[in-house]
Amino acid sequence: MNFTEETLSRAPGEQRILEAKDWAIKELAPTAETWERERRFAREAFDSAASNGLTGLLVPEEYGGKQIDSIELAKILEHIAAVDFSVAFSLVCHNNLAGAIARKGSTELKSRFLPGLVNGKVLGAFLLTEPKVGSDAAAIELQAHRDGGEWILNGEKAWVTNGTEANLLSVYAQTDPSEGHRGIATFLVEADSEGVQRLPGYELFGGHGMGTNGIRFENCRVPDANLFLPPSRGFSAAMEGIDLARVLVSAMSCGMLRSGLETAVNYVLNRQAFGGRLADLQGIRFMLGDVATDLEAATLLTYEAANIIAAGGNAGVAAAHAKKFSTRATEKGLAECMQVMGANGSLREHSLSRHLAASRLTHYLDGATEIQNVVITRDLFSE
Ligand SMILES: Cc1cc2nc3c(=O)[nH]c(=O)nc-3n(C[C@H](O)[C@H](O)[C@H](O)COP(=O)(O)OP(=O)(O)OC[C@H]3O[C@@H](n4cnc5c(N)ncnc54)[C@H](O)[C@@H]3O)c2cc1C
Repeated sequence: MNFTEETLSRAPGEQRILEAKDWAIKELAPTAETWERERRFAREAFDSAASNGLTGLLVPEEYGGKQIDSIELAKILEHIAAVDFSVAFSLVCHNNLAGAIARKGSTELKSRFLPGLVNGKVLGAFLLTEPKVGSDAAAIELQAHRDGGEWILNGEKAWVTNGTEANLLSVYAQTDPSEGHRGIATFLVEADSEGVQRLPGYELFGGHGMGTNGIRFENCRVPDANLFLPPSRGFSAAMEGIDLARVLVSAMSCGMLRSGLETAVNYVLNRQAFGGRLADLQGIRFMLGDVATDLEAATLLTYEAANIIAAGGNAGVAAAHAKKFSTRATEKGLAECMQVMGANGSLREHSLSRHLAASRLTHYLDGATEIQNVVITRDLFSE
């Protein structure tokens, strides 16, 4: 990483944001298409992120991390996603797990797992969704039974980001179906434990760099010491970080849209048609002008929600507005950026098709678009 005089004179947060931006451009841009083409987890990117201090962003310094605030985190991820959304989202899942262990883990769990998560020797994953259960997360069926000083896990998880290579799995399990969401507990399971079976990575239309798959648990024995959150706390803990997670998806969407808009503007400035530049046609200019307005609005909504979180307020509705608007605006805007570039816009070398595929996936992450509307209308119609 380069430390110019200019960056050294900035506030530490601003300097870290610039460093992350610089890192993404130098380290990710040359290989981003490779992970898509080879349909595999972006291992080199994760290892490089770890060497550049991007794997302990929510862990306090006493455990070797950095503990940055929601605004700085959103900015860093926005810059990374502008180059590669998959790497950015993979880092979100990893950092969230490390942060949760630092905040809520026992002294033993912290000392066992935080050093590896922070230095990146251990890759983390969050396992809530199941093949038959998504939005209605309280209905998960993976079971945990007590047996002596151990728990036995049986069931299957789906859509595990980082799952194809993760070493540490944060598994949400039902301990007593009659208790509903209050029966859900969380276990930290080492992926090489007996009874853990990784399924192959999903074949998707994009987003392969985040190594998403299903993971099966068959009579997997987990010691009591690995119970991360007991039955009454598992589900509420999963929901606690959801506002920040939505803000981060929103910020990452803004990063992809900004990158697409820059690509399109640059292209139409240089493409000749009918005796002039495409950029001189008012129809083309207005299309990109509308994308710019949406990007501005998405960015404002995102950082308004991030500011509320940083100030300790309730960002539920603001985060839902931001995520819904930014993900929609990004998918639509990227398609328009491709449109003004004609057929060339769909060439992989321009990254627009990769961002467009990722933008479709953002509609499901951390609560589908419709679930954002559930949050928004609950507030709208509250009496
Ligand atoms: C690339 C990718 C990575 C992911 N990574 C993870 C991960 O690391 N860990 C993890 O646990 N999960 C992960 N997920 C899963 C994600 O959280 C779920 O996709 C999401 O919760 C939605 O669930 P579902 O896809 O099963 O859709 P469903 O819940 O089956 O919903 C289907 C449709 O019905 C709509 N719907 C559902 N309920 C309502 C309602 N009340 N009102 C109106 N409409 C409704 C939904 O919006 C959706 O359009 C990932 C998903 C993707 C695509």
